[in-house]
Amino acid sequence: MGDTGGMSPVLALVTRPALSRPATGHAASHDDGVELVDPAAAHLLVTDLGVQRGDGIFETIGVSNGSPLSLDEHLARFAHSAALLDLPDPDLEVWRRAILTAIGAHESAQELSAKIVLTRGVPGRGEASGWVWVEPAGDFTAARTDGIRVVTLDRGYRHDAAEPAPWLLLGAKTLSYAVNQAALREAERRGADDVIFVSSDGYVLEGPTSTVIVRHGQSVSTTPTTAGILAGTTQARAFDFFSSRGFACEFALMPLERLRQADAAWLVSSVRQAAPVRALDGAPLAVDTALTADLVAALLTPPQR
Ligand code: PLP
Repeated sequence: MGDTGGMSPVLALVTRPALSRPATGHAASHDDGVELVDPAAAHLLVTDLGVQRGDGIFETIGVSNGSPLSLDEHLARFAHSAALLDLPDPDLEVWRRAILTAIGAHESAQELSAKIVLTRGVPGRGEASGWVWVEPAGDFTAARTDGIRVVTLDRGYRHDAAEPAPWLLLGAKTLSYAVNQAALREAERRGADDVIFVSSDGYVLEGPTSTVIVRHGQSVSTTPTTAGILAGTTQARAFDFFSSRGFACEFALMPLERLRQADAAWLVSSVRQAAPVRALDGAPLAVDTALTADLVAALLTPPQR
């Protein structure tokens, strides 16, 4: 678990973030597109569209004992998000190098988080802004072991809104997370720790920063991405774990009632990994402590290459 005490974060500017762009003013001709800089200094103009409009994308990558988890999957989702927002194609080799450089420059810790951001940049400059921020992961022991209290909240659109309204950018991991943050504050007001969004027509979607996995007997299910949710990298690895334990794994649209009848549920995400749901809208839900501990351990194990 990341001991946050005293460790400095690491910031790497990505000076060649996109495939089509030549080196920016930051970069020397022979540079590799990555520059480690002072994390406490200013590096962004207030006119950057990422700041002004939330016009950009990000990924948050879990790092276990120095290895980034699901790195290829995060990079692929980053490129997919960029395409959905008509951002320039990120140069994934530069981003990979930046992530590994920043992790390598950080003091070692059991768990870190690496956040990568690409914004549309400053209007008129024609240059995207990009950076990697690495810091110790928080302490999620209580959430992982005791579980979390979750409330369901109406997301305000139908489960099939993505097709008629692609400008909602459903399925892209955009910087515009004010809605997600508002939902988490609403959960706190209701005495809960987290949220499961439900579509206006009554289907389980995802958490504001997580994917929902539900167990009924020997089956586990999660919502398909056709419902306008993010393709979860942690969910994919969790399904590998559940398959190895003999569970049937499926993608299925789930009416809220089906979630209420679950034997167990987890919110899974890149840095917290898996948090069992111990209460849903105030009703208790069983936590399988041993299975959850094994799930978290599996999620934190970097794949052998
Ligand atoms: N859904 C949303 C809206 C998220 O923001 C996140 C992660 O932050 C997830 C799902 C989980 O994705 P991952 O497991 O790749 O972290």
